[in-house]
Amino acid sequence: MPPPSVPRRIEDIIFYYYAKLVISPSAGFRGNYRFIIDTYKRLKSGEIRMSDYERELLHIANMPNQCIFCGTKYTKCQLAHIVPRSFGIQPGMHNLVYACETCAVSKGEKDLVEWWCNDLQRPRDELPRVPLGLYLKIAYELHKINFSLQKPCKSLGELFMILHKKS
Ligand SMILES: [Zn+2]
Repeated sequence: MPPPSVPRRIEDIIFYYYAKLVISPSAGFRGNYRFIIDTYKRLKSGEIRMSDYERELLHIANMPNQCIFCGTKYTKCQLAHIVPRSFGIQPGMHNLVYACETCAVSKGEKDLVEWWCNDLQRPRDELPRVPLGLYLKIAYELHKINFSLQKPCKSLGELFMILHKKS
């Protein structure tokens, strides 16, 4: 959760969670806090940019037959959408991943964060890196198109709800 000093607009939420994502996951949150805020500020100032989808696509290519959500090896893979298609996915956005049958069916057309936190009852900090990375990049692109990056936003789970409400 961004500290109170971080104003919560859509762009802030996206950059904050992206900064958290690109920091080494092994060092833990507390030790990395300064780096997260630094990365966040550099994203915000435009000094650095969110990478394109390459990082995630490379990761996906490197883990064949492994569920993107739960990490188990599957025998029967299914296609799953990171962001529900009804949220206005555009051509070129990398919204499709391979998942095990259980995860793909369970997630369906639900919002990633809502599914993970509410349905699966898993902590938000344990959201898998690749799906979350795609989720944040798609959120950024969609809000950019909609000129809504500066709209107020309270939490990660609201990123797409705001778009959805509008239509
Ligand atoms: Zn799975």
